[in-house]
Amino acid sequence: MDNCLFCRIVRGEIPSRKAYEDDEVFAFHDINPQRPVHILVIPKRHITSLATVSEVDTPVLGRMLAVADQLAKENGSPDGFRVIINSGRIGQQEVGHLHAHIVGGPDPVGPMLKRV
Ligand code: 5GP
Ligand code: ZN
Repeated sequence: MDNCLFCRIVRGEIPSRKAYEDDEVFAFHDINPQRPVHILVIPKRHITSLATVSEVDTPVLGRMLAVADQLAKENGSPDGFRVIINSGRIGQQEVGHLHAHIVGGPDPVGPMLKRV
């Protein structure tokens, strides 16, 4: 995915504040943090959203969640965190490369959803 924003971040073509990397996933601080801790965890290989995953993606989906606790603890959210994955139009996903938001900080992050 030549022009995908997050693929370009993985390749280092667009700078980011890296928080973690292994052979399958990459994590970096959100450019517009919504909480004191706001990290995005993404698969290195392009996956558009949870709507496009297949059987081969199961391991990387697990890895994205498996690194969340360590990332939260290392970055200032020692007592828990929230994981959010927006999908598609209804989920109001803005970037078309699957990503898990890890949000937290010293205080509780607030209600799960704002009533619309
Ligand atoms: P979405 O709404 O798709 O679930 O979340 C996209 C997130 O990506 C937003 O929280 C936004 O701030 C973040 N984001 C968009 N562009 C960039 C960028 O160039 N660098 C970083 N670090 N985060 C970005
Ligand atoms: Zn991509």
